[in-house]
Amino acid sequence: MGHSHITIHKKAFRPYLSVAQLDEAVTALAARLNADYAGREPLFVVVLTGAFMFASDLLKHITEPCEIVFIRVASYEGTGSSGVVQEIMGLREEVQGRHLIIVEDIVDTGTTMHHLVPKLQANGPASVEIATLFFKPESLRHKIDLRYVALEIPNDFVVGYGLDYDGLGRNLPDVYVAV
Ligand code: 5GP
Repeated sequence: MGHSHITIHKKAFRPYLSVAQLDEAVTALAARLNADYAGREPLFVVVLTGAFMFASDLLKHITEPCEIVFIRVASYEGTGSSGVVQEIMGLREEVQGRHLIIVEDIVDTGTTMHHLVPKLQANGPASVEIATLFFKPESLRHKIDLRYVALEIPNDFVVGYGLDYDGLGRNLPDVYVAV
């Protein structure tokens, strides 16, 4: 664990979660998924870019047969009632009848998942669940069903372990929080 503050784009961050703490939470979540998805051959849908490191560690602990795909979600302003249109890029796999597990870095307001889950559900999967590294309950603005959360955190900005601050910090093995 880095024990000292770091600076990214002139913003100060302090150490928040160590490699060991992250590993413990991610391993525990993988154990739950192994138990719940035994014999169901789930399809993990990893949302790039922020979830790449979490997904890598989580999936190394999945002992059940599974498939893994990577998607991107692009949001743009639309004229529909929600005001935001989301496009899923990279999902070429057959989703019909499959058990999907979305792998996300962080559920903050919940807007991303609020739009992504119905889009995936429209393709006729057997089930859709969300596995997120972080969840900020204080920020949530949508009603979403979050069954798999590795760590609940306060409403503060975090970087590292895949998450960035304006493009930097994704490579850090520990997680830091803005001071
Ligand atoms: P939501 O749609 O739930 O409001 O936000 C989800 C996205 O916001 C995450 O996938 C992530 O990219 C970004 N985000 C929310 N909170 C944080 C944070 O504390 N740190 C970083 N790096 N990104 C965040």
